[in-house]
Amino acid sequence: MSGTAFRSQRAAAFADVPQAQWNDWRWQLSHRLNTAEEIGQVIPLTESEQRALSSSGLFRVDITPYFISLIDPQDPNDPIRRQVIPTAGEMVPFTSMMEDSLAEDRHSPVPGLVHRYPDRVLMLVTTQCASYCRYCTRSRIVGDPTAQFSRTDYDAMFAYLERTPQVRDVLLSGGDPLTLAPKLLESLIARLRTIPHIEIVRLGTRVPVFMPMRVDDELCEMLARYHPVWMNIHVNHSNEITEELAGATDRLTRAGIPLGNQSVLLAGVNDCPHIQRRLVQDLVRIRVRPYYLYQCDEVEGAGHFRTPVGKGIEILEALRGHTSGFAVPQYVIDAPQGGGKIPISPNYLVSMSDHKIILRNYEGFITTYEEPIEYTAHDPATCKYCQAKRPEPGQAGITGLLDGERLTIEPQGFELVHGRGGGQHRLNQDSGKWDPLGIGSGKPKRHTLPEADL
Ligand code: SF4
Repeated sequence: MSGTAFRSQRAAAFADVPQAQWNDWRWQLSHRLNTAEEIGQVIPLTESEQRALSSSGLFRVDITPYFISLIDPQDPNDPIRRQVIPTAGEMVPFTSMMEDSLAEDRHSPVPGLVHRYPDRVLMLVTTQCASYCRYCTRSRIVGDPTAQFSRTDYDAMFAYLERTPQVRDVLLSGGDPLTLAPKLLESLIARLRTIPHIEIVRLGTRVPVFMPMRVDDELCEMLARYHPVWMNIHVNHSNEITEELAGATDRLTRAGIPLGNQSVLLAGVNDCPHIQRRLVQDLVRIRVRPYYLYQCDEVEGAGHFRTPVGKGIEILEALRGHTSGFAVPQYVIDAPQGGGKIPISPNYLVSMSDHKIILRNYEGFITTYEEPIEYTAHDPATCKYCQAKRPEPGQAGITGLLDGERLTIEPQGFELVHGRGGGQHRLNQDSGKWDPLGIGSGKPKRHTLPEADL
């Protein structure tokens, strides 16, 4: 690997563990640390951490020996420490805090299957993770063994997928799918592959970061049997990129699995343009493409990690143009109440007229793009792709407005409010009067000649 070598380190407390055990992912799982006493033997705890670890109702704590070894024990603000060791800040409520801030359970036709977008679903296959992130969006179920998904739940999820042909992409997540027993994981992926309309399978996992030894040849060979398989990992800071993680991503890439990274913008961890630039540059060195940078969700327990949105814009400003384009992630707010991911970006469009646009680049250079006055547009009437549009009624959104399916999208209750309680009368009973010609089913009555004859 070119560039500075990535580190590999083991905390003094594990110095005597034989290498074979250290490299065994089952050993890592069964020796996770979760109490103040255990963690305190590796890292001297602060008063705030002690308090959090002894409080009741705390979101589950578990840290693999490998991952805790990456923490600088002398640094109370170590960016890895902040991600996995709780502090009292976790208990502080904040305005807009929610248990299920993305309303995932509301968008689940069956338990554990979130169908938020037209052509893809999120399939929660476990509530267990290798270690637990203090800002977890799914802390309402993650880490809770009593919320674990059963065979009956899996059957209901598969039955839904079989009867829903619009789904072409399934993201296995949880919890972390790579913590499942290998045979169970393979049986779930194999079953997805029996559904003809499912084109790709994705895995969302932080196991390569918490426990890279789990990414062994056996796992890579198994995944390669079910291609196309894509994977997103979750790295928030360069300190998580080690020799071991680089080995895991190398094995996955050689097995033909495209890798992306999803990180969360976290106060005191990575809320700095320089940390983020190092992160994305280190990620591409290990052949992982930075994919999303998430604004921290309004989820219970994560208040002390939240940053203003302006911080994300500042980071994007420092990345776009300043480093390789494919190393720049998309900054998104996963909208509360299930609004889905909304991309946020610095504004590069300065102004426009009917034939030119004024743009600025990352340096502040202002330029003009002259637009064509005449343009022979694509003809939907002769385009086979337009003719074979995917049938996803009611889900076209803004594209539906552009496509002429409808003229407006109204807030809930709009009709009722603007009816002003007046009811139907002789002037408003014919709704055809406000049907726009050529949009949706619009057929205004006063036009009698075809447009060509006018
Ligand atoms: S790995 Fe993902 S699901 Fe598990 S605790 Fe971290 S953020 Fe939550």
